[in-house]
Amino acid sequence: MITITSIKKNSTADKKGLRAGDAIESINGESVNDMLDFHVYASYLPLEIRALRGKKSLTVNVETVPQIMKLGIEVEDLKIRHCGNRCLFCFVDQNPKGLRKTLYVKDEDFRYSYLYGSFCTMSKISGNDLVRIVKQKLTPLYISVHAIENSVRMRLLGLKGDDNFLEKLKFLSDHGIELHTQIVMVPGINDGKVLRKTIETLYSVEGVLSVAVVPLGKTKHRKGLAELPSVTKRDAEKAVDLVEKYQRAFKADSGSRFVFAADEFYLKAGRAIPSNASYEKYEQYENGVGLVRSFIERTKAESKDFPESLRKPRTILFVTGKSFVGVLEKYLIKKLNKIKNLSARAVAAENVLLGPEVTVSGLLCGKDMIRAAEETGVKADVVVIPGTSLSTDGVTLDDMTLAGISKALGTKVITSDRIREALR
Ligand code: SF4
Repeated sequence: MITITSIKKNSTADKKGLRAGDAIESINGESVNDMLDFHVYASYLPLEIRALRGKKSLTVNVETVPQIMKLGIEVEDLKIRHCGNRCLFCFVDQNPKGLRKTLYVKDEDFRYSYLYGSFCTMSKISGNDLVRIVKQKLTPLYISVHAIENSVRMRLLGLKGDDNFLEKLKFLSDHGIELHTQIVMVPGINDGKVLRKTIETLYSVEGVLSVAVVPLGKTKHRKGLAELPSVTKRDAEKAVDLVEKYQRAFKADSGSRFVFAADEFYLKAGRAIPSNASYEKYEQYENGVGLVRSFIERTKAESKDFPESLRKPRTILFVTGKSFVGVLEKYLIKKLNKIKNLSARAVAAENVLLGPEVTVSGLLCGKDMIRAAEETGVKADVVVIPGTSLSTDGVTLDDMTLAGISKALGTKVITSDRIREALR
């Protein structure tokens, strides 16, 4: 059962007499227990909606509604399922106090995986959940694998027993569910032979469409947590070599490279960023795979529209993470400095909040970006910060908004996707 939170005025549901507060029990005979059930079952017409208003039962029939939006029903949000794992590298456990609330949520929910592309391990998924995924065609899903070898997966996820992972994966694959997977690589635990076996096994499962190999992230807040090695340049080189070797073989075999290494590995190894075509459909973009190449391509395209000169002298300062500053200077700053009257500069911000091992732009907090900009002594007309450092709600890890950063710096602050606009 799920509660209606609002009914749009003059919508079909309004005209049919449904009200906020009514509880939907079923649609076309299918039980509705959460928002996802509602959206899945309400997407095919005609509908027979059974609901409760207090103790009174209602039945509403809807024959014609061109789009779900016009049905006019909003229902309560999903109650997120929390994670029971104790992953050795869990980033939530390594967060300091005082960050925005959502960063402390350990979600492990296949519904979020389907709706928003967040990764889930399936360690606690039930048989009923698997049947539901198949029945409702919740595809594609994003799955954290880490290792196919049970003992290694159990160690990495902090599981007490075998969670029959491969069996679950094959069940979904056999029933037409497509899967994008990830391996968080921890040197000495799931690299080398273990990594090879994991990649090869995943390749043999038909429904698995891609694998991202990403490095573990370590903040400085690991007190009381297991000792873990850091990913070295050598580890990154080995990961890139291994992934690229498999890419060549898989491409020849099936036409797809199938396995992709995170940008962080390329940057740490100092290797050339693969071509645009190498990322195929950029399926693992949100997982840090292909962001750098995508930035390079976008910059190439956008720079064609850069003006030859500005009317008045202007200074633009980019604040970014240590791992990205070289790319930024090479592909964008150089081009900007060719514009007459424009002086562009990039600065790498030290991640004081999370520690020196966190060098990606997306994990910079507001205070660290402000400090880095101030320390340059540059009087910038515009400061540009990475768009990835802001959540979808527009706040940094430490809950600062663009307006807050702008106020602290006393100048205009924009995100990196608005450079053309700033130049105009
Ligand atoms: S599954 Fe995700 S949230 Fe849960 S412990 Fe592992 S890394 Fe943390």
